[in-house]
Amino acid sequence: MKPWEAYYRSVTPYVPGEQPQGARLIKLNTNENPYPPAPGVARALKELDASALRKYPDPAASELTAALAGYHGLAPEQIFVGVGSDDVLGMAFLTFFNSGKPVLFPDVTYSFYPVWAELFGVPYETVPLDESFQIRPEDYARENGGVLFPNPNAPTGCYLPLEQVEAILRLNRDVAVIVDEAYIDFGGTSARELLDRYENLLVVRTFSKSRSLAGMRIGYAMGAPSLIRAMQNVKYSYNSYTMDLPSIRLGVESIKDEAYFRETVGRITATRERAKERFRGLGFVCTDSMANFLFVRHEKVPAEELFEVLREQQIYVRHFRGPRVSDYLRVTVGTEEEMEALFQFLGSYVSRR
Ligand code: PMP
Repeated sequence: MKPWEAYYRSVTPYVPGEQPQGARLIKLNTNENPYPPAPGVARALKELDASALRKYPDPAASELTAALAGYHGLAPEQIFVGVGSDDVLGMAFLTFFNSGKPVLFPDVTYSFYPVWAELFGVPYETVPLDESFQIRPEDYARENGGVLFPNPNAPTGCYLPLEQVEAILRLNRDVAVIVDEAYIDFGGTSARELLDRYENLLVVRTFSKSRSLAGMRIGYAMGAPSLIRAMQNVKYSYNSYTMDLPSIRLGVESIKDEAYFRETVGRITATRERAKERFRGLGFVCTDSMANFLFVRHEKVPAEELFEVLREQQIYVRHFRGPRVSDYLRVTVGTEEEMEALFQFLGSYVSRR
């Protein structure tokens, strides 16, 4: 080892789903949207003038912030934008979780949470979901340095009704409570409705799933102005220009086209409901996912085997190792045709086993 290598920061990084290349493959492994972004996004992309890139972008991304504020009926001071919701969540960890007390999040959840905790030196405790993968609000009644959970949860897709989200907030009035709503557009009621009553609530969203813009990297948070100001202070202490010019322009275009947004989200949720039935018909156990993915386990065939044979067919799904989840596959909802190809193969494979 070289002497300076002894001083490298040692971390175990988050492992994103693979991004295989190729025209024929069916990619159901990273919860991307199978439909393109709104037509106005494509137009705005074509109209982008390369010479405009000479200048730094607006550090406050005011156009995008204003568009989001208008969309959600909030003041611009209640919106924080970032490079995907991963950036927003990372900033939130840095900003809010400094009490030295453990932050609470579910044992089965987005696997980036413990990575940020380790990176930023935030102590944490995981709270077990019940046997049907549900969050129990009463379990969050212990002393903590903050609470964080996705709703719907990942990778289970399970949704926590708004009354229960509020129950968690009632139990946690003195710490920041973060609801990660990456998948809320596919089902359920947003905690946005609770912002007026809970000044310690931060609701985090992304353009990566329901708005088909994973490649653009746009995420945001909604909360009381004091929370947002605190996050801005941290952001401006790290990188002033998080949002590039294309992200700002295309993000605004996406928000303008509500009809397209509703249509594509509607198509995905309809495909999801049909897919639940198909999976169950083939002998899979399937959570009642409200997200754009399904969390499934076959009664006889191990998940790892299915993962491998699907991969040989160029059908990519996600398999997580680890307690409670390793029997399951997470399958993103694709187009009707993609799902049909998946079920054709699974139908013949599981019947031969
Ligand atoms: N939260 C959850 C629960 C997710 O599954 C993801 C997607 N990996 C994210 C946040 C981050 O998404 P993005 O950075 O693309 O907004």
